[in-house]
Amino acid sequence: MGKVVGIDLGTTNSVVAVMEGGKPVVIANSEGMRTTPSVVGFNKDGELVVGQMARRQGVLNPQNTYYGVKRFMGRKYAELTPESKQVPYTIRRDEYNNIKIKCPRLKKDFAPEEISAKILRKLAEEAERYLGEPVTGAVITVPAYFNDSQRQATRDAGRIAGLEVLRIINEPTAASLAYGLDQQTSQKILVFDLGGGTFDVSVLEVGDGVFEVKSTSGDTQLGGGDFDKRIVDWLAAQFLEQEKVDLRKDRQALQRLTEAAEKAKIELSGVSVTDINLPFITATEDGPKHLETRLTRPQFEDLCGDLVSRLRRPIKRALNDARLTPVQIDEVVLVGGGTRMPMIKALVRSFIDKEPNENVNPDEVVAVGAAIQSGILAGEVKEILLLDVTPLSLGLETIGGVTKKLIPRNTTIPVRRSDIFSTGENNQTMVEVHVVQGEREMAKDNKSLGRFKLTGIPPAPRGIPQVQVAFDIDANGILQVTARDRTTGREQSVTIQGASTLSEGEINRMIQEASEFAEEDRQRRERIEKRNKAKALTDQALRRLKDVTLDFGTQFTSGYRRQIESLNAEILDSLDKDDERRLDRAEADLQDALYELNREVRLQYDDEEDEGIFESIRRTLTGDPEDDLPYTPRGGVYGDDYNAPRYSDRRDYGTPRYDERQSYGYGRNERYDDDYDEWEETPQRGSLGDRPSPRSRRQPPENRSYQGRDSESYYSRDRSRRIPAENQWDEEDDDWF
Ligand code: ADP
Ligand code: MG
Repeated sequence: MGKVVGIDLGTTNSVVAVMEGGKPVVIANSEGMRTTPSVVGFNKDGELVVGQMARRQGVLNPQNTYYGVKRFMGRKYAELTPESKQVPYTIRRDEYNNIKIKCPRLKKDFAPEEISAKILRKLAEEAERYLGEPVTGAVITVPAYFNDSQRQATRDAGRIAGLEVLRIINEPTAASLAYGLDQQTSQKILVFDLGGGTFDVSVLEVGDGVFEVKSTSGDTQLGGGDFDKRIVDWLAAQFLEQEKVDLRKDRQALQRLTEAAEKAKIELSGVSVTDINLPFITATEDGPKHLETRLTRPQFEDLCGDLVSRLRRPIKRALNDARLTPVQIDEVVLVGGGTRMPMIKALVRSFIDKEPNENVNPDEVVAVGAAIQSGILAGEVKEILLLDVTPLSLGLETIGGVTKKLIPRNTTIPVRRSDIFSTGENNQTMVEVHVVQGEREMAKDNKSLGRFKLTGIPPAPRGIPQVQVAFDIDANGILQVTARDRTTGREQSVTIQGASTLSEGEINRMIQEASEFAEEDRQRRERIEKRNKAKALTDQALRRLKDVTLDFGTQFTSGYRRQIESLNAEILDSLDKDDERRLDRAEADLQDALYELNREVRLQYDDEEDEGIFESIRRTLTGDPEDDLPYTPRGGVYGDDYNAPRYSDRRDYGTPRYDERQSYGYGRNERYDDDYDEWEETPQRGSLGDRPSPRSRRQPPENRSYQGRDSESYYSRDRSRRIPAENQWDEEDDDWF
């Protein structure tokens, strides 16, 4: 069993962390960043790119670059609004009404789970590189509002990535884990998470090593990207007025505007004024046009006033659901890059008169918590019990299509609830149990999780038979529903795995394909490395020839020159024609020629035989090329386009409103009342379950610390390990001698 990592699979960015020596460590990726954009793409050669490189190719290759895929996870095509389908890549409905993402470059379709799997795979590989051992399992976080299908889809993505998903945990729970470790006394925590495209707020109770989520709320359509868009609109409106050109109509210009807007936003979190310069943003009959302006923090805050006020409602709702008033909150935890904006911190402060907790980096706190959870599961971190809640109510459809709730939302899991139902008609011998999730009155308005039939009920007048229906949710949030006829004892049950939009067969096929792809990828990389090596060898041969000619004259090298030049031509030609065997032969011949040349040079210097040096020449010529050949950066093999603009995440103007605009967490009748004095009845918690509460009193471990490691030091460690000592060059020789 290899290592288990914690992964925050975010809509915009993902982060991987691991427990090392009892401490959570965030792992930097090979690009040196601690967060990896959740973007997957296929470049012009059909090669897979993930993270920053995928993000960069977004504008030039929008059809084959996928971002924000988390929004499609575990959803049916019919659940999407027309707006949510507006992404620069193509999504379609398959025969099961599932969402498929088209990849024109590879001429195939992907499930959202497969795209997410590529992000998970990359993160797992980064962790393997860092740890030097295989990563076999993961704890993955999901938003608290994710329903069963979305959770199941996340789990499936992990499996496709070749990872055993040991636990799916809620993001705010993870964040509170990262913070709550050393909390000795019971505290009520408000977790405020403003990510790239979503806003989540949760209330948790933490104490004595026990973490309990009391309530969750939020807005699935509000995030950092909306703040960027305000700047984009402001810039575009200015430009339109001055130049009579709407930059938002030009894809490339819009992309540059969006990147500049995000950059300005991020800068304004640290400084109070920023310059925005976009030279050659467009051209008119009068020639090229440049955009040059200045944005101050107060101006920016002015542009976003309504966005900030939209954040207030979910906070009130979460407090209301937790039956707490703002003064009862002991701690506020900020999560997500968006919370770095001073106006957001001010909002939180105005609401809850507490200095927000910022000891852990808001971008990383969720992954840190996931890593701690992985440590708990592995037995590395003991004495912590994690209580999660159901994000939405669970119930079943009863007569007239009305939903009967069995487990109200925000009920602590694991939980078991049951109720007795009867028949609606005389002599009814079969009942259908339709399991639904959601807050709405009518079953058809809620999410259908599955249905099954219980047959063989003895004929009886309606209302007489007694069918007991039980809902069981385990610690992972997986629901099992059982129906039992109390007269006959007949029983029927389902596990709501059906929440997965993918069948078992499909998942297995995807696992297979993912590993084939990895193999293909490896071969492609090897091929590119081989080509680079051959090219470098031709350069070195010429360089060596030049040096020797300088030292000993043209006479001495003329024979070698002819040979080397023709072999070089042979190598370049076989590279051109992709003739591997000819390439191998020419390369070997060139190495031999160089060896001969060097031997003769050596003889000129010194007639004495020196086996040791010859041996080292021979090894160098035939051995590991990395000593002297130009180092190919890891990313380089993917055909990175360095001229492409950065930050090509295309969450922006005119693009996606992915989900239905919905502020989740609302009860079926707008239960929230703006007046705090009125606390309406919420369902009783903890009184119906017939299992004892798993709460226990134990001590948390005393040490919590958290640190990253830069990729620099890792590289040097890695590289020096790869080059065996006897293959290293002699001190002063940095070239062929
Ligand atoms: P997600 O949870 O959606 O994956 P993150 O928590 O990584 O997202 O947040 C990403 C958002 O945070 C982006 O909109 C990004 O622009 C924003 N962001 C990152 N750093 C800052 C900053 N210093 N100031 C303001 N916004 C920031
Ligand atoms: Mg996040």
